[in-house]
Amino acid sequence: MKKVKRSVANRRLIVSLVLLLFIIGFSIFLGWSYGQRPYIVDGIDESTSQVNPEVVPPAEEVPPNTETTAEQEPTITSATFMGTGDILIHYTNWEDAQIGPKSYDFTPAFAAIKPIIQQANFAFANEETIPGGIELGLQSYPQFNSPSEVIDALADTGFNLIQQASNHTLDQGEAGIAKAYEKWQEYPDVAVVGSATSQAQRDEVAIIEQNGIKAAFLAYTYGTNGMPIPNEYNVNLIDRTLITADVKRAQEQADLVIVGMHWGDEGSSEVNAMQREYGQLLADLGVDIIVGTHPHVLQPVEWLTGKDGNQTYAIWSMGNALSTQLEIPNLTGGIFGITIDKVTTGETSEIQLRNPFVIPTWNYYTAAYRDFLILPFDQVEASQFPGDFAAHQATTEAILRTYVPELTIAKSIDF
Ligand SMILES: [Zn+2]
Repeated sequence: MKKVKRSVANRRLIVSLVLLLFIIGFSIFLGWSYGQRPYIVDGIDESTSQVNPEVVPPAEEVPPNTETTAEQEPTITSATFMGTGDILIHYTNWEDAQIGPKSYDFTPAFAAIKPIIQQANFAFANEETIPGGIELGLQSYPQFNSPSEVIDALADTGFNLIQQASNHTLDQGEAGIAKAYEKWQEYPDVAVVGSATSQAQRDEVAIIEQNGIKAAFLAYTYGTNGMPIPNEYNVNLIDRTLITADVKRAQEQADLVIVGMHWGDEGSSEVNAMQREYGQLLADLGVDIIVGTHPHVLQPVEWLTGKDGNQTYAIWSMGNALSTQLEIPNLTGGIFGITIDKVTTGETSEIQLRNPFVIPTWNYYTAAYRDFLILPFDQVEASQFPGDFAAHQATTEAILRTYVPELTIAKSIDF
């Protein structure tokens, strides 16, 4: 009996299971049919047409795209470049800076721009006059030699890209260059380029890394005022072959290349043919930023397009930062800035430049040639400017924006 009872029970269980499977199967079929209905493409109800559900699955069965291109998501690191114009030291500048029989302090002149320059990762200044120090005998116009304390002031302000290729670099011959480099050894984090005391030094590419961005820095001058060049490596002259080779070597070692060019017509706010020619060469070579010095007045900024469609930011001339020149345009300079983005996707990275800006500066000094100050325009008081300062601001902005109307004219309070 036990056996029979069990067999009846088994039969009931089997019937129940078959019924259950039928109900589940039917439910799934109904569910699938219902799911088909909303699947409408271009207004046609696909549920009524002969569509193979294996070929065109219902919309809700499309697997969600969970791979949100995590591997291709770019990472961006940023750095700021800033550059100022010529540091042109006349005897009045060092008389004002003198603090002892044989010692000088130029830092007060830079005090107002120091908080701004400190915000830059790459900060450029041009030594128009060679700081060979008092041992070589200080000299003013026309063959200059400046106190070595100029170097202390530049380093203290925060400059780490120094151009030492100007028409005055060889005013004291090779000795001036050697003395300047000897002093710069006290600041090993600063790249000083454009002149050299050996071929090996000239051939070494100066690279500074900030925020994971490696910037190579090169510098050239149009000439040396006829001063003899004892060795070719003593100063980098603007030369198509030399520049091409240097830029290519720099690009192999760095993320971006910044080139300082000592060029242009003195006193002219217009870009000359030679600047155009070499500016285009640098753009065609893929240089990222061109930093122009020498005209002693401001010139516009401009985006140049290289032969590969690349963009190069050309700062044609930054004017004077510090001098004792006499005319208003010669006492006007600027801090030229731009943001550098390094965009890395997988194994490759590229440099993008954005938000160019200028903080115009006024080179103030008293009627007795004392109390020199490099003042951002927004810190200039009426008594510190001989004339209509509002009109001068408008003129300056118009020059700077000639080719880039949207250029930001910034204030020191922004930093
Ligand atoms: Zn010059």
